[in-house]
Amino acid sequence: MTAWGEERRGRGRGGGGGDRDGGRSFDVRAVVAVTFDFGDTLVPVSAPAFRAVVRAAAGDVVERLALGDRDAFLTAWVEERDRQVREDVLEDRREMSMARRFARLIARSRGMPAPPPDVRWDDGAVDALVDPAEVAWALDAYRDRWVAGIPVPAGVDRVLAAVAATRRVGILSNWPHTETIEAFVDRAGWRPYLSAVVVSAAVDAIKPDPAIFRAAERALGMPETPPGSILHVGDDPRADVAGARRAGWRAAWLHADNAGSPLPGAGRDPEPGAPGPDVEIDALEEIVEVLGPVL
Ligand SMILES: [Mg+2]
Repeated sequence: MTAWGEERRGRGRGGGGGDRDGGRSFDVRAVVAVTFDFGDTLVPVSAPAFRAVVRAAAGDVVERLALGDRDAFLTAWVEERDRQVREDVLEDRREMSMARRFARLIARSRGMPAPPPDVRWDDGAVDALVDPAEVAWALDAYRDRWVAGIPVPAGVDRVLAAVAATRRVGILSNWPHTETIEAFVDRAGWRPYLSAVVVSAAVDAIKPDPAIFRAAERALGMPETPPGSILHVGDDPRADVAGARRAGWRAAWLHADNAGSPLPGAGRDPEPGAPGPDVEIDALEEIVEVLGPVL
């Protein structure tokens, strides 16, 4: 039995003294800040909505920059995304760059052949074919289509408000474009509840790297915070749960209904032997009950 495998502490069962980690207990009163993962934790992302966003953004870019055939651009988009996941995330363990992806896509549309899968792009040659202003425009189109096309989930504002009444609150997200998260936060009206928005694309580290959790501590104004005083809530047992625990944080694992999610990491199983969560929840709003009343 794993530390957390059979005892699933869901609705109404948070806040107690968990004893699933060699006697370590989870004292929610010690938690003074809570961070939330973005994709599939605060914001469910369905495959149809995601595809529609990508198609619309691709259409905008192809039309504006006169790049030819949208379907060819979309096919290349998927190839370049998969390449970035493989090279950047899995091999180099860093965030993908949407700016780099658009530069490569524009270069491909202008006739530069994509390298074979086992060879990396010559980004200097890419940049010789692409105006940075074109990439900036493409990024804005992607951000605007994303924010317009992905619904703001109902009730999350109430969860953030309730947690923010007793703790500092932040977003801690692996995402390839910071401004997209920032714009979504503003559209959703969540800004008043947030002390920090930390996005991997801006801090040069991705969850589960402890470096991004350190960046979040600084952003929350809590450098050198005592272990166990920040709780991270997320749906990915590897990036969110094991990452937070290895950084000395508490972790809540949200069992999100994300089987159809297109996001990397959705539906992953825990890594064998990795640290498990301090608490498990079946719906985001349960975290309010876990944290309990005002300190
Ligand atoms: Mg997630």
